[in-house]
Amino acid sequence: MAARILDGKSLAASLRDGLRQKTAALVQRGVRPGLAVILAGDDAASRVYVRNKMLAAEQVGVRSLLHEYGRDIAEEVLLDRVATLNADASVHGILVQLPLPGHINAARVLEAVAPAKDVDGFHAGNLGALLAGRPGVVPCTPAGVIRLLEHAGVPIAGRHAVVIGRSNIVGKPLALLLLRQDATVTICHSKTRNIESVTRQADILVAALGRAKLVGAGMVKPGACVIDVGVNRTADGKLAGDVDFDAVKEIAGWITPVPGGVGPMTIAMLLENCINCASR
Ligand code: NAP
Repeated sequence: MAARILDGKSLAASLRDGLRQKTAALVQRGVRPGLAVILAGDDAASRVYVRNKMLAAEQVGVRSLLHEYGRDIAEEVLLDRVATLNADASVHGILVQLPLPGHINAARVLEAVAPAKDVDGFHAGNLGALLAGRPGVVPCTPAGVIRLLEHAGVPIAGRHAVVIGRSNIVGKPLALLLLRQDATVTICHSKTRNIESVTRQADILVAALGRAKLVGAGMVKPGACVIDVGVNRTADGKLAGDVDFDAVKEIAGWITPVPGGVGPMTIAMLLENCINCASR
């Protein structure tokens, strides 16, 4: 039987309806949520991501402002801008679009963002809060994956979740969120030996490795829930996830498409984080 499709696009649209109402209530209290976006360099994909995020923000009533810089921008200029935005009461969320140009210490810039305005949840203070089980801003993509699982009624507690990828922005925080929901969690990465033998044990398999279609049907347990975080361009310029969708959908129980799965959920969670920061 073919897998059920986890439709992130339609779930994100219904979440945005709720967020629009939340924003309207805040505006009535005299607070218009504001999102500042910092974009540096000439990465074409980043430009598209930023445009989509700002468009989505405006659609739910969040005012968004772009601070754009060329590829030669000095790190100090970015740090100064972040400091100004940290002090600006009309700005509730600050998003630093990655990647930054190579000569910039991205970690230093991310750490400069006030944790209370860190809508991406990348600040070490927020990641530490997640690790310690304390309140904080949760990274958007991992939060979006959990929402997709919950909405579809995919059982998590007691199940074996395998996450491929250990980045600070996807793999590690997602593993922590799954653990928080009582899954038994394994993290795989590029040094994992015999990875298929691990992934075939997964009730929930998350691919966040950034390698087009690497996860094939032979890596998946029949009936498993397969979440594809990857966004890749193939040689012919097409968009592809990390999962070989056509093959895996024949044996998985649930699967996310690319596009239309995790991507829209990431943006919805970004807006939710920004509105929550504004309500505080
Ligand atoms: P990243 O920082 O490059 O991390 C990739 C991880 O995958 C690393 O931990 C790496 O292992 C591991 N890996 C790479 N090749 C592997 C292999 N052959 N077998 C097993 N593990 C392997 O990437 P990221 O920022 O986490 O993003 C991952 C993917 O998700 C990318 O395609 C990105 O574009 C996409 N993404 C999508 C969204 C969305 O909203 N849909 C959001 C964020 C990211 P090592 O640690 O050993 O190097």
